[in-house]
Amino acid sequence: MGAASGRRIRVRGQVQGVGFRPFVWSLAQRLGVSGEVLNDAEGVLILAHGRDLDAFERALAAEAPPLAEVQAVESAPHVFDRPPDEFRIVASAGGTADTGVTPDAATCPACLAEIRDPAQRRHGYAFTNCTHCGPRFTILDRLPYDRAQTSMRAFEMCPACRAEYDDPADRRFHAQPIACPACGPRPWLEVDGAERPGDPIAQAAEMLRAGAILAVKGLGGFHLACDALNGAAVRHLRERKRRPAKPFALMGDMAMIRAHAALSPEAEARLADPAAPILLLPARGAPLPEAVAPGQDSLGWMLPYTPLHHLLLDAFGGPLVMTSGNLSGQPQVIGNDEARAKLARFVDGFLMHDRDILRRLDDSVERLTPQGPMILRRARGRVPGTLPLPPGFEDAPQVLAFGGQLKSAICLTKSGRALLSHHLGDLDDRLCFDEFRKADADYAALFDHRPEIFACDLHPNYRASQHARARAGDAALIRVQHHHAHLAACMAENAWPRDGGPVAGIVLDGLGLGTDGTIWGGEILLGDYTGFRRAAHLAPAPLIGGDAAQREPWRNLLARLDAAGLEALADEIFAGRDLSLPRAAAARGVNAPPSSSAGRLFDAFAAALGLVAGAQSYEGEAAMRMEALARRAPEALARPYPFDAAGEALDPAPMFRAWGRDRAAGVSPAIMAARFHAGLAEAFCAPARALVEGGAARAVALSGGCFQNATLLDLCARRLEGLPLLIHRKVPANDGGLALGQALIAAAGGGGDGR
Ligand code: ZN
Ligand code: ZN
Ligand code: FE
Repeated sequence: MGAASGRRIRVRGQVQGVGFRPFVWSLAQRLGVSGEVLNDAEGVLILAHGRDLDAFERALAAEAPPLAEVQAVESAPHVFDRPPDEFRIVASAGGTADTGVTPDAATCPACLAEIRDPAQRRHGYAFTNCTHCGPRFTILDRLPYDRAQTSMRAFEMCPACRAEYDDPADRRFHAQPIACPACGPRPWLEVDGAERPGDPIAQAAEMLRAGAILAVKGLGGFHLACDALNGAAVRHLRERKRRPAKPFALMGDMAMIRAHAALSPEAEARLADPAAPILLLPARGAPLPEAVAPGQDSLGWMLPYTPLHHLLLDAFGGPLVMTSGNLSGQPQVIGNDEARAKLARFVDGFLMHDRDILRRLDDSVERLTPQGPMILRRARGRVPGTLPLPPGFEDAPQVLAFGGQLKSAICLTKSGRALLSHHLGDLDDRLCFDEFRKADADYAALFDHRPEIFACDLHPNYRASQHARARAGDAALIRVQHHHAHLAACMAENAWPRDGGPVAGIVLDGLGLGTDGTIWGGEILLGDYTGFRRAAHLAPAPLIGGDAAQREPWRNLLARLDAAGLEALADEIFAGRDLSLPRAAAARGVNAPPSSSAGRLFDAFAAALGLVAGAQSYEGEAAMRMEALARRAPEALARPYPFDAAGEALDPAPMFRAWGRDRAAGVSPAIMAARFHAGLAEAFCAPARALVEGGAARAVALSGGCFQNATLLDLCARRLEGLPLLIHRKVPANDGGLALGQALIAAAGGGGDGR
């Protein structure tokens, strides 16, 4: 027989370690295609011969397995020496450095059915997985993604697992973490330092029913678990963890969640995503103990995402509090010995297992808004997913950006894509900073990253900035203004082209160093990837007491009331508190730097409403309570408090005077909170709209930590209707997205002082 024509088909994207080759093999059987498929450094390569190769190519993208993400299917003619008589999967050809690693994925329906079926050999087995589900990034040591490079190397496959692993028709073909009760990891229950004999899961459930607190080893770290319906147990957990008010996350199956939360079809789909994030959902139906989330009208829910979680919930029969197993502010615990050392005083027992966690990944936290999904914390299930760089950045150099001080994350660009790391915590904490440095080295090694340019925040004292200086050495280090980075992050995730023209960025945020040496945080920046100008900003007020103003909202209220000529009202509200010192500090500018921060304005107003009396017990508490309150008076959103927006400085003084009148008239706090949100949205959206309508900007972008507030986001989006609008859906609006913006600005040759 002579030569035969066919095609050489290249598939790019997240196509390795997700069952793509067996999928191609089955497809080839179905469509009568012969040839071969293999993994290589660029993705998946197929040599195909057959009658309907167009249909074959279409199906490659259209019917790809659940965890695959096909970015491109490219094909070229190929000549076979002689027609291939079958379709074969051939061994990998070399390295895989350029292809993505898949994020960890929640247990798939097929595996779940298997562990619940007494006739299956994996019945009740807590480490069941397949190519469509299971651990990935959290067990990975180095690339390429092979069992020997994961923490599964400690377990030798039994003959039955080996047969599945080698069979292209099996859904466990080349599933690296494949395991069964005969050969894989095992769970145990440990109480008072000793392993309890018997069924660990049934006994753990028994303990939880009796009100115990357990440490449960998960995918990316340990959780602390207790019965969510048992108020005493939840309060007990708060006392032991010294966490007075920060909301706890909850785990339940869909029916349990439905009993306590408003569940839209979109929310159900998001919960059931293979990433299995914590999703903030409005509380409805049967109330949970107040201690689960004090002062909040939403609860953070997730579905069980490992077989161990499923088995535990099945045995327990109700929702569980599942909060990160860590000391306050520190990284989540991942090792068994580390857990015994650090968590023993919080818990009555440990539900352990012997598969090591190699990467610490917190649960991702997300919410749905009328404007689409929003990511608050990007970690397990989302990382290491990548984003394409916007048009015009195809040939960008490799850049490494270090983000900010809080909610830190780093960003790597390479081969036209951006990889934003997982959430690395607040770098004020020494251990989080250690983690941050480890992650930097780890990502560089894992992705063979050789940055030519480095980027960091303008603030010289951020630990991330100091680390950047040391890391960059003699290479270029670009310092990026904090809110310019927020703007660029929003442009980047919306694929705004490099030469797309200027965007008006409404950046409502906590604190960031401005190019004039003052502290910014309520800005309209007009700019692109290379530079910006500050078109408008919140009228500054002193941060009385410096850092103390961050923790204690009343200080911001005092500053704003005095600035609005409402000294007498301040005297009345703060009766019994000596105001002479803080006022003197503000007047003389001693430890009272001026700031245009919108976050601190939120704090000031929360103090006005009496929502946080002393210090906030966690970052963002005042703002979260404000949003919850405003939702109770939706009709008042149509009556914004007035701002003086005549000049570049948007002054909230008229708002505080109007609030003073509402207060005297006995208006409800919910109405006042709603009017505050509407006033802030109106004050910033009107000038941003004018920039677009006047031709100075091509679109409006909404970024900064305040846009985690869905009410504020929705109000702004409605006021900007009809204009091109860029908002965050994949990258956090908070400082967790900062590094992406820094990277793009550095790649574009921007950064430094505003022009
Ligand atoms: Zn599965
Ligand atoms: Zn086995
Ligand atoms: Fe920020």
